[in-house]
Amino acid sequence: MSTLKDKIIACLKENGADLVGFSNVDRFADKIPQKIFPETKTVIGIAFRILRGSHRGTEEGTTYYQYSTTGIEALEETVMPMAMLKACGILEDHGFAGLPQKRNQTIMSEADSTNPEVDYMGIYRGVDSECQLDFENSAVLCGLGELGFHGTLLTDDFGPLQRYCFILTDAEFEQTPIAEQRLCDNCGECVAACPGKAISADGKKDPWQCAAYYKGANMKKNPFMPAEAFADAPERLAIITGEAKLSSERAREIIDQIIFYPPIKQGYVSSICGKACDISCYVHLEKKGVLRKKFNSEFRKREEWQLPILEINETA
Ligand code: SF4
Ligand code: SF4
Repeated sequence: MSTLKDKIIACLKENGADLVGFSNVDRFADKIPQKIFPETKTVIGIAFRILRGSHRGTEEGTTYYQYSTTGIEALEETVMPMAMLKACGILEDHGFAGLPQKRNQTIMSEADSTNPEVDYMGIYRGVDSECQLDFENSAVLCGLGELGFHGTLLTDDFGPLQRYCFILTDAEFEQTPIAEQRLCDNCGECVAACPGKAISADGKKDPWQCAAYYKGANMKKNPFMPAEAFADAPERLAIITGEAKLSSERAREIIDQIIFYPPIKQGYVSSICGKACDISCYVHLEKKGVLRKKFNSEFRKREEWQLPILEINETA
């Protein structure tokens, strides 16, 4: 006879989840789960793969919508909520409560930070984040995977290519062991791959630098940037070659000018950088043969491309 745990896992997988892990709430030293839902006994971590195909357009420099629509929006706004609602329904049918926790993209405790995935204007800053899980840390505590050098969750199945969410519940389950640190070998390729040098040598990401280059401030990696872009900027060459060191104010000004690719009509920004940090990590782990999910051909088919830096009034 299947247990409640079996039923929860089966329900989540039937609704699109790929990985499910369980953590006793005692693993959470910050006690944030209990601040959100005081009776929490277990945190259930749920990971959903980002389709490898959704990154092929940016890898080849052809189309740039798929990662934001299928790799972020569809997962965050449709698949994850549905899977969590159904699993919470099963918990309720057994007399327990379940509280879904999706990553909040627009609320942050820092007074001057940002989230590259959304419009910086839509973010509420300086908000007490005691009511939000630390998503990366929570994923590790639920045994989903390990943190890579640049702070991204890496799993045995998909490397850096997944998104994840959590259910807080008053039901108790046997917990999943915490994953051994075995995928990240500190190769540094995630740092080197960023077209805006947004990741420092110690693996920390500058969110404003990332936001400007996520949106495509580097001409060498943005097929849509016209020659006259940033024509009035005194540091134009530094901006479009990814060498500029941007303050948050300057990053805002630059982001406002990067309108070379039609925006998608939802809340997520198109990633023109193609999440090069994660993709370089994925390519590295795939080459090493350490990922469980195998494909019939390698993700990277050819040398990485780079476009020329155009002088103003020059066309590509
Ligand atoms: S690219 Fe290398 S250093 Fe960066 S997270 Fe992946 S394995 Fe670790
Ligand atoms: S590669 Fe893209 S997502 Fe990664 S740090 Fe650089 S700009 Fe940000």
